[in-house]
Amino acid sequence: MAEHGEGALVLFSGGQDSATCLAWALARFDKVETIAFDYGQRHAVELECRHVVRRALSALNADWAERLGEDHLVDLSSLSSISETALTRDAEIRMTEEGLPSTFVPGRNLLFFTYAAAVAYRRGLRHIVGGMCETDYSGYPDCRDDTIKVMQVALNLGMARRFVLHTPLMWIDKAETWRLAESLGGSKLVEAIREHSHSCYMGDRAHSHAWGYGCGKCPACDLRAEGWRRYRAPA
Ligand code: ZN
Repeated sequence: MAEHGEGALVLFSGGQDSATCLAWALARFDKVETIAFDYGQRHAVELECRHVVRRALSALNADWAERLGEDHLVDLSSLSSISETALTRDAEIRMTEEGLPSTFVPGRNLLFFTYAAAVAYRRGLRHIVGGMCETDYSGYPDCRDDTIKVMQVALNLGMARRFVLHTPLMWIDKAETWRLAESLGGSKLVEAIREHSHSCYMGDRAHSHAWGYGCGKCPACDLRAEGWRRYRAPA
């Protein structure tokens, strides 16, 4: 099933979506590396969960263990100094006057893809994989399919490469994301993602729920809990 000789770089924050994307890439590409960004996010615990998830996925499948390569952590701390957002400040998570959640960090995914492409360029990786989603997303305009498509064009023109940007979750919701994980690695992969991935904006790893760890109150927890409920609901 793997695309022979092709390498991928996965934007891997350690959340449910990017963990599923990592499994998706490991099932497809011969060589898979991961990248994450430290931008002073409130849920920095997410970055610690990344290594646990990487190890858990390697332990599940010998082929995946062989394909999983280097991890890259890029310091983007300047992002929090130039943006006013509830993801990087101790501010209330709410909807702004523009109809966007106050967790929106302007330009974040555009920067992430640009840095990822620069790393992929150096590492000789043609495919870049991200967990952006238009279906039940938080309203971030840089998660939109059109944004990602023009980003691919801009990166390929600007770097004279033929990168392919993949967003396997773009048209599925959180319940279907769990089903995708199940199709990729069965109930063991679902359990590994449920246990080790982190979504909560508040960085809460103290409270355990059926759907994983989190405060159970923030929008990220709400979305994850609702997706899990629908995934587990009888058909
Ligand atoms: Zn939470």
